[in-house]
Amino acid sequence: MIGAGPAGIYVADALVEQTDVPATVDIFDRLPTPFGLLRYGVAPDHLKMKSMSRTLQRTLDHDNVRFFGNIELGRDLTIEELLGDYHAVIYAFGAATDRHLGIPGEDLPGSDSARHFVSWYCGDPDTAPDAFELTAKSVAVIGLGNVALDAARVLARDPEELAPTDVPDNVLDALRRSAVTDVHIVGRRGPQHAKFTTKELREIGELAGVDVLMDPAALDDVGEPTETVVRRNLEVFRDWAGRSPTGAPRRIHMHFFSRPAAMLGDDQVEALRVEHPDGSTTDIEAQLVLRSVGYRGVRLDGLPFDEESGTVPTADSRVRRDGTASGEYACGWISRGATGVIGTNRHSAQGTMQSVIADADALRRRDTKPGSALEAAMARGARPVTLEGWAAIDAEEIARGKVRNNPRVKLAQWEELLSAANPVTKG
Ligand code: NAP
Repeated sequence: MIGAGPAGIYVADALVEQTDVPATVDIFDRLPTPFGLLRYGVAPDHLKMKSMSRTLQRTLDHDNVRFFGNIELGRDLTIEELLGDYHAVIYAFGAATDRHLGIPGEDLPGSDSARHFVSWYCGDPDTAPDAFELTAKSVAVIGLGNVALDAARVLARDPEELAPTDVPDNVLDALRRSAVTDVHIVGRRGPQHAKFTTKELREIGELAGVDVLMDPAALDDVGEPTETVVRRNLEVFRDWAGRSPTGAPRRIHMHFFSRPAAMLGDDQVEALRVEHPDGSTTDIEAQLVLRSVGYRGVRLDGLPFDEESGTVPTADSRVRRDGTASGEYACGWISRGATGVIGTNRHSAQGTMQSVIADADALRRRDTKPGSALEAAMARGARPVTLEGWAAIDAEEIARGKVRNNPRVKLAQWEELLSAANPVTKG
């Protein structure tokens, strides 16, 4: 299994729990820690969602599952080496980059991706601790999806409410110093087209010290939608549109029918220009613009890839090479694209498992040498972090949490993580 995020772990669980064919699963991850987007995508204040890590940990603790973090496919290991070791190889490495807008000014300082912002506030060790200084007074977040809501909420929420979470110390300090007073959520289409889930949308309107401002005219032509989530979202928007500002210290402004046309500024973004359906434009003041217009999978050399969708093409989770079964499978965002919540993977995991089990006879005929892939990686100097290493990181984070009087504080840098894990070395 390549990828220790929810998609990969759910499939591993389905494989070791089924009883038709005995199965053992080795899970590799580029990071020294498991749980992928649950750890580095779910916002720190979504505590209930974060607690799903306990279920995933149970799978890692299963006798027939092993974890090898700090091992990167392409750097430490080749696809051929994996296929020479395992009967089946399952790719679950997610969507590691984000979509761009292709508008003038997009490369100006102050323009960034929500993905980068999320990685920063989640303490992803690949993101510099000082990546966001939050000196902007006004921030625009482009996109009407849950990632945009997460970014807006973290920016507008009273930082003291984040203190009891696993948010890294440097992020908490930056949020305490933050100059942000206004966050603009900007969508090119209407409220009835937003991809928000209602629970996440409601949270925005419940933030203490925040006024949500919305023009009631945006709701004029929404029609009579039949989809439940759309109807519920519209109820939330109607509530907001009827509110009057209370003079709260921070504001979230909803902008619909506002297609991003350009980012304005000389050396730094100063405003986002949006275009409305009638051709008129508005300049929204913003010293920081976060595009939140979807994640995208990254091509892995040697693996089929569809550039259009940013996914590894599959049929019933099977990766096809020249129309023949290759013992390779894909699941999660790298296979279906960046849609669906974490729980979506639990359902789809059953399908992936069934494809692997259905192929078991053919897979067992493949000539493999167990242990050879990890051996090759370690011969190249790779230092895998095993389950024990992850347990040591976990213990260190929990110990740091005691200082801030909360359950955990994340280690946010590679050196800290590796020094806590003390990874396995050759010999
Ligand atoms: P998303 O739900 O696909 O939303 C992307 C948004 O970007 C859409 O509003 C889309 O508008 C807009 N967009 C795309 N291209 C654009 C362009 N060129 N200009 C302007 N707007 C553009 O993606 P996401 O927010 O990144 O979320 C990814 C997945 O993770 C979703 O399934 C989401 O539910 C899930 N997630 C869940 C949670 C949670 O449960 N709490 C938290 C975070 C993420 P159009 O509709 O007009 O294309």
